[in-house]
Amino acid sequence: MKNFVILASVVILSAYGSVNAQLTTASNPTVNSNSLAITTGKEVKETAKVDMAPMYANTITESDLKLLVYKLSSDEFEGRKTGEKGQKIAARYLEEVYKGLGIAAARENGDYQQRIPMEYFRGRSKDTASNVVAYIKGSEKPNEYIILSAHYDHVGMRGNNIFNGADDDASGTSAVLEIAEAFKKAADNGNAPKRSVVFLNVSGEEIGLFGSKYYTEHPIFPLRETVANLNIDMIGRVDQRHKDNPEFVYLIGADKISKELHELSEAVNKKYVNLELDYTYNDENDPNRFYYRSDHYNFAKNGIPIIFYFNGVHEDYHKPTDTADKIRYDLLQKRTQLIFYTAWELANRENRIKIDK
Ligand SMILES: [Zn+2]
Repeated sequence: MKNFVILASVVILSAYGSVNAQLTTASNPTVNSNSLAITTGKEVKETAKVDMAPMYANTITESDLKLLVYKLSSDEFEGRKTGEKGQKIAARYLEEVYKGLGIAAARENGDYQQRIPMEYFRGRSKDTASNVVAYIKGSEKPNEYIILSAHYDHVGMRGNNIFNGADDDASGTSAVLEIAEAFKKAADNGNAPKRSVVFLNVSGEEIGLFGSKYYTEHPIFPLRETVANLNIDMIGRVDQRHKDNPEFVYLIGADKISKELHELSEAVNKKYVNLELDYTYNDENDPNRFYYRSDHYNFAKNGIPIIFYFNGVHEDYHKPTDTADKIRYDLLQKRTQLIFYTAWELANRENRIKIDK
């Protein structure tokens, strides 16, 4: 979240192995996504729609998320400041995770990193920086795209203090990786999403939303075929307001461009996750103006429906004390699963969500 003004693939892969065995027995790779055809004599009758989403949502676990957050917010990454060494190490780490999961680079030349020239940052970065972008191709409508985004940069160091940014935004970055893993699992089991799903890890957020701005000005996939952007920035903590009822997440922007997106998001939450969806900050008159303060805004500006997932600010916001031990991993898991289910529905529903007016 912008101010106002290897564990590695090895660990993920080993987590994978155990899930894999479970999944291959439970699903039939020869059937189309979401439906099971049962053979009776010579006829093939479609008898029942089987909802595959929970099986893959369950591959998103507290323990995987914890390993990822601890890694991304470790001192090794030096606060991940855009254009500095720690951010570059983080970019390479993300790239390795996608490679390890067998998820393709979004760019045609196979490069996971979309490099942003130094000049683009208007003096706020002393070097180039990258977005790291991977994707899973849709099985039926590969030219329509759902983008999951989170920024992996943070604010660096001040003297000997490292700003680890565990909530901001190692939490969102880890969520994107876990969602990518779940979709890959589904694809490997013959349940690839109908639409393509893009995993966009941006840099330059903390210094002015530059990574997402650069992506929308140099899109890898056409913006007019970009169905929605689900942006995740700080989803591992509980704010003061929810101290006594922590099973919540703030949603911002869901109804602003497509009412259908808002309705779908509500329905998915009721069906699968049941978190309290708090719309306090969705109010146009809210003085915090969070709608304008994270990466989804660059998509919204271009008329693309968005949802911004957020846990609110807390006492460690933009302080060296935003550390991995303070993350509520049980909540991080639930929120990540909610976002996965929403992306799954957006990717697999018959018709693309409508834009209002
Ligand atoms: Zn921030």
